[in-house]
Amino acid sequence: MEKKDLIEKINKIKREKNAVILAHVYQRPEIYNVADFIGDSYGLSKKATETEAEIIVFCGVDFMAESAYILNPEKTVLIPTKLASCPMAAMVDVNSLRKLKAQHPNAAIVSYVNTTAAVKAESDICCTSANAIKVVNSIPEEEIIFVPDSNLANYVMTHTDKKIIPWNGWCYVHNKFSSEELVKTKKLHPDAKILVHPECIPEVVDLADEVLSTTGMINYVRQNSVKKFIIATEIGVIEKLLLEFPEKIFFQAPPGGTCLQMKKITLELVFASLEKKQFRVVVPENIRVRAKKALDRMLNVA
Ligand code: SF4
Repeated sequence: MEKKDLIEKINKIKREKNAVILAHVYQRPEIYNVADFIGDSYGLSKKATETEAEIIVFCGVDFMAESAYILNPEKTVLIPTKLASCPMAAMVDVNSLRKLKAQHPNAAIVSYVNTTAAVKAESDICCTSANAIKVVNSIPEEEIIFVPDSNLANYVMTHTDKKIIPWNGWCYVHNKFSSEELVKTKKLHPDAKILVHPECIPEVVDLADEVLSTTGMINYVRQNSVKKFIIATEIGVIEKLLLEFPEKIFFQAPPGGTCLQMKKITLELVFASLEKKQFRVVVPENIRVRAKKALDRMLNVA
């Protein structure tokens, strides 16, 4: 079937079933054509609380769809494939987290939204890359166990006096941007602004003109008169920027990075998801209620 016909079919079945499609920016650009909202983890969490639709089809990875269910248990939350699973979220498990907490009984647990529902349930508050500093500085505890991204933890450390105990997790996409390569690229394009995601290693963050979340980068480009940008984040952001700002020039920082898990979702799978109501995302109620507290607390901070 032609892509255009498939897009029409998805938009039709979406209306018939009173469904909404939330898509992360790292999705394939073809998914943007059927999305009701495109955003980052924080924006999507907020949208999930605002929708009146009966069905949410989440085009993103597993932990994002879980968050949508945690915030909307009365709705049907679907993810088009079970293969869209974030490796970083899988780097922290409840038992190991409890052991670390036992060693630091006075520490608060701040979990990045890139965690499983079970880990969120163990946490005092969640955060995203857009609000991590604000969240850490908003809570009374002076000691913070920060899970799972050690790079984001390092970045937060440079903006707080609190003691941060980082978990040893990382995002394989952001972790491989190289400071040496970034310096070489900047030499080739001295008039370009360097935008870096805080999941990158500290040496890359140090070279940034701006350290920004996914949505923060898009807003920055929108509001800035500069024409050229070198961007250290997942390729989907560059693809979205090229669509929105065709008059500007974007280079992805070397060696580049693509989140393979995010690209598992296709238009065909979105249609099948709506047609067959698959695959349902559900979180056990005892975990959901505790995880929701951590998410709600974050949504009230920022
Ligand atoms: S980009 Fe990194 S953190 Fe985001 S879903 Fe992919 S692996 Fe997980």
